[in-house]
Amino acid sequence: MCGIVGYVGARDATPILLDGLRRLEYRGYDSAGVAVLAPSGNIVIRKSEGKLNKLIDLVNGDTPRGQLGLGHTRWATHGAPNDTNAHPHADCTGRIVVVHNGIVENYVELRDELRAQGHKFVTETDTEVLAHLIEEELRGARGAGALALVGAAQRALKRVRGAYGIGVFDRANPELLIGARHFSPLVVGLGKGENFIASDIPALLPHTRTMLLIEDGEIAALSRNDARLYTLDGAVVERDPFEVTWDVQAAEKAGYPHFFLKEINEQPSALANALRGRVDERGINLAELDALDFARVKRVVLLACGSSYHAALVGKRVIEEWVRVPAETLIASEFRYASPVIDDTTLAILITQSGETADTIASMRLAKAAGAQTLALTNVIGSSITRGVTATINLNVGPEIGVVASKTFSAQVLLLELIALDWARRVGTLDRARVVELVSQLARVPDLVQAALGSDQQMQRLAEKIWTRKSCFFFGRGFGYPTALEGALKLKEISYLHAEGYPAGELKHGPIAMLDPEITVIAIALHSATLEKVVSNIQEVRARRAPVIALATTGDAAIAKHADDVVYLPHAPEEFAPLVATVPLQLLAYYVAMKRGCDVDQPRNLAKSVTVE
Ligand code: GLU
Repeated sequence: MCGIVGYVGARDATPILLDGLRRLEYRGYDSAGVAVLAPSGNIVIRKSEGKLNKLIDLVNGDTPRGQLGLGHTRWATHGAPNDTNAHPHADCTGRIVVVHNGIVENYVELRDELRAQGHKFVTETDTEVLAHLIEEELRGARGAGALALVGAAQRALKRVRGAYGIGVFDRANPELLIGARHFSPLVVGLGKGENFIASDIPALLPHTRTMLLIEDGEIAALSRNDARLYTLDGAVVERDPFEVTWDVQAAEKAGYPHFFLKEINEQPSALANALRGRVDERGINLAELDALDFARVKRVVLLACGSSYHAALVGKRVIEEWVRVPAETLIASEFRYASPVIDDTTLAILITQSGETADTIASMRLAKAAGAQTLALTNVIGSSITRGVTATINLNVGPEIGVVASKTFSAQVLLLELIALDWARRVGTLDRARVVELVSQLARVPDLVQAALGSDQQMQRLAEKIWTRKSCFFFGRGFGYPTALEGALKLKEISYLHAEGYPAGELKHGPIAMLDPEITVIAIALHSATLEKVVSNIQEVRARRAPVIALATTGDAAIAKHADDVVYLPHAPEEFAPLVATVPLQLLAYYVAMKRGCDVDQPRNLAKSVTVE
């Protein structure tokens, strides 16, 4: 999820690694480290929790020397962000070092097996199994040369389920740097008399613009003058290098003009990462929830601010629908100064992207003091909200750089649904067959979101139409209501165009008075139990001559006569529809902001993490 840089050549590796990590800093991380093969033949590892400057202070005056090395910035997924869990990680003998981005899904079973074989683990990370696995495979290999190491890494990786971009080197092979990937990014940089690996191209641009792609399931073996690619089965892969022509800024954004647009577009893979290790053909595996005593819970309060609050609204509905426990959503800044009725039969679910939202943290403390069980949902492992809660679920979608939420909102919705499903499964409020059906639908969400991204050009055209209008009203019913709120908030946040989100039935209780041809109405009219009602509400606003854009389900030809424009989206069960319908609304906000010349990644007056009341 974060940064990898690797070097083999004739220069001192440490400055190259640190400079590369610096160039990946924009991605966010919680700890950093380097490993270098010293002339003595020993591997020197320096690592530290916190910012890169801490690592630089650590190596200053005592810089590890050597021409083979790996650097890493970590975004913790397994184990707190501390010095020990920071990468690189070594095997038992200190012969092999590994850096890793991603998640090893089957690390528990691999670790148990390796422990039984006598391996000693020193960190809480999933990553450490990789070092011991390679050590174990090497033990059984013939010879100790480069081929033996590549073979051992191939065999080790064939046993790994999950996502990885890794860098490996071995004290006994001072000329060899290994990189491999599966669902996490890693590229090879080709230099003259030197070669590199990196999780992201910008890290390498000061040294080379000639890159070699590593595809999923491939391994790269690099020496100073040679770069070879293989499959995990050992077949040689022939691939031509390519030249990078973009500048550094474009490269950081993977070619997108803004982080927000990049993050909208990476939602399919982000959501797949959020589900990784948690949903598979065997069902749901959300061990984090084991710490909760569900039998005790008589009431749920979901506490959040901003977009997280909209995710909470979806969470409330599915908890009530699937678990049949009363659930209430509250804005954290209100909850903390109210006189909430909570006790030890309450479960408080705290939702905050950064884990540092002051009001949500205060709400957590309040709930805890009243005896409630607490569950945090955050994208930052080890953040303040996670300290002291009964259980934490990490979003696992990697850092979000754009100030306004996109992929973190989607992941919050998806994981709240997964929590509700797992809870229902545990307490038996849904029968097995229904759980299996819902889990398989949930697992399809990343593909549906991918399909929804197909609305990009249409949203661009609609933005052209509406960017000068006075206001936009978003409305929907049921699961369409939080979607409407989120759509309106996106538009306000990044384009400063006035917007409101309403339950569709509420319009006639006041806001309808405002409607005229200068106000666009965006109706969430996807397939649902209340679609007919939404259509009636559309009629009401059309009668007031407000132009209507309807988000509808593919195949719903009838809706066309009710709306000026229809955005067709793939069919999803209504519980999962917010995940699909949010995508075009994010794109609409983006393109309206572009027309209005706004700073999309850093909108005025907004901060990514709201640590004040
Ligand atoms: N899962 C690994 C860990 O928590 C790697 C995290 C990352 O991608 O930085 O250590």
